[in-house]
Amino acid sequence: MSVTTEAGTFESLNPATGAVVGTHPIHDEKTVFETVERAQAAARWWAGLGWKERKNRLLRFKGALARNLNRISQVIHEETGKPIGDAVFEAVGAINLLDWAAKNAQKTLGPRSVFPGALSINQKAILEYHPLGVVGVIGPWNYPIYTPMGSLAFSLAAGNAVVFKPSEHTPGVGVLLAELFAEVVPERPVFQVVTGFGATGGALTRAGVNKIAFTGSGPTAKKVMAACAETLTPIVAECGGKDAFIIAADADLEEAAKSALWGAMSNAGQTCVGVERIYVVESVYEEFLGKLSARAEQLKAGYETDGTSFGPITMPGQLDIIERHITDALAAGGRAVVGGAESVRRPFVDPVVLVDVPDTASAICEETFGPTVTVTKVKSLDEAVAKANATEYGLASTVFTSSSKTALDVARRLRSGMTSINAAIAFALIPALPFGGVGESGFGRIHGADGLREFARPKAITRQRFKSALDTTTFTRTQKEIDQIIKLMQFLHGRKK
Ligand code: NAD
Repeated sequence: MSVTTEAGTFESLNPATGAVVGTHPIHDEKTVFETVERAQAAARWWAGLGWKERKNRLLRFKGALARNLNRISQVIHEETGKPIGDAVFEAVGAINLLDWAAKNAQKTLGPRSVFPGALSINQKAILEYHPLGVVGVIGPWNYPIYTPMGSLAFSLAAGNAVVFKPSEHTPGVGVLLAELFAEVVPERPVFQVVTGFGATGGALTRAGVNKIAFTGSGPTAKKVMAACAETLTPIVAECGGKDAFIIAADADLEEAAKSALWGAMSNAGQTCVGVERIYVVESVYEEFLGKLSARAEQLKAGYETDGTSFGPITMPGQLDIIERHITDALAAGGRAVVGGAESVRRPFVDPVVLVDVPDTASAICEETFGPTVTVTKVKSLDEAVAKANATEYGLASTVFTSSSKTALDVARRLRSGMTSINAAIAFALIPALPFGGVGESGFGRIHGADGLREFARPKAITRQRFKSALDTTTFTRTQKEIDQIIKLMQFLHGRKK
């Protein structure tokens, strides 16, 4: 939560208590432009350090994060209101990403020879990936260290400088990250932070960065993309989701209920890859619903109280959306088997499980971003896949079944960037796997080798090792050489099977 204070500054507030967590500058366009200019010079220096030294520095940054885990988690806890254990878990995920990016950058992006092909056998072909320069990272508030780290660590490991604009609701985490980075890279401003609201993010898109890594809502992504179109600045867009969780008749229902509940309600449902819709094959629907509801009844929203399962809704405006989705679903004929409209106790929302919700209701079609979930009975896995895919979003999905063959078949048919089998959101802790969506969930990838390549440009280099026997690419080529080429092509590609 955040409010504007005296001119030029704003306060980040604890969403549970309203206490001021920190005061930060609202950086204007001039400051953002100057910051990016400094970053351009720092980027050249950082790129010049080379793979080994950058890896050393990033691993030292990782060490600093690990040593400051308690301090970082406390800021996350206060700024988002999430339980301290969840804040620790999130920071651990971020450290995991940083470690992987640091250790795999050279292997993924460093120079390598590739086979030049029969026509160019006289050439040596070299592929390498160069840094882009400065990456502007615009982050959300729901996972204020884990989510941006997918862009920050991978950009830095690829040899870029970064300018990070954290969410106005969680600026303190971003500022702390930059402070810790400056301890291991004191020479140049390779990692800088600008704070403020949307206008500060907007300035960053116009400031001459070489790429924007945006994480946030689809509507904001479209504004960022439009601004970046003016200068042909590329972007990677990590946006929202409406993730489905599918349960087959042969699934372990106890495990499915535990996993679906965690996927739907942890972090108060404020998870881009959170479970929002559950589809259950009819033969096990009642049994699953009973198990899920019994577990959901045990959860409680709160702040720093014993037995609190999750914290408040971090962004006050989201409470209206959550409430509307519940009341719309009930008005359209849905039923709440756990909680209901009364579960919205601002700034908290207790668990809500909705059934019989029509496919056209907002609780099925729009991202809710709260601790609510719909459970829908389906006749078959085919119907479950069709319903799961009937959305503009395509971020992640889960399938529960004891058949590996069925699981893989369903996973491959689900239109989403990531699918977990028998454990929701499992991919998020595997830094080698790419993370990102399709459709309204965005495009481009963070994490893994694809995430490193996202922040680099491929460079192709050829070196002629000897003169070709066939002089095909000069004006001195002869008809005889063309005839030889025809023969070679027919030998290589024209033989009948
Ligand atoms: P948001 O779109 O409101 O804000 C995201 C960031 O963009 C903030 O830092 C904000 O200040 C900035 N911003 C706002 N207007 C801007 C503009 N015109 N130009 C540049 N920057 C601007 O999103 P949010 O509410 O902070 O985050 C929640 C959303 O993020 C949800 O939809 C969630 O699903 C999504 N999300 C996606 C992922 C993912 O990896 N796919 C991860 C976390 C969150």
